[in-house]
Amino acid sequence: MEKAFTHENSLIVFNLKNVLEDSGIECSIKNEYSSSGAGVLAPFETWPEIWVENKVELEKAEKIIQDTLNDSSTGDEWICSDCGETNSNHFKICWNCNKSTPRQFW
Ligand SMILES: [Zn+2]
Repeated sequence: MEKAFTHENSLIVFNLKNVLEDSGIECSIKNEYSSSGAGVLAPFETWPEIWVENKVELEKAEKIIQDTLNDSSTGDEWICSDCGETNSNHFKICWNCNKSTPRQFW
């Protein structure tokens, strides 16, 4: 198993897991429920992590993650109707407040 990504915001981690799975990459989350360990472990050790099967998958995953996180320049992001946060178009839920539906423009 190879660690592909970690972030203190679990919503970003879960969004990226969805993106990777949509791209056909098997992955799993570690530390999903470990926030109660904060204060005992170093904070970064409690961040949720995305793990993939092997190095080949890791290379693909890292590329997809980078493309996803750098996507704000494409203009395809959506604005959360609940908190107003800007999200990558790859994200199905708002990374900030966990709402699942992008604002409709009309
Ligand atoms: Zn939001």
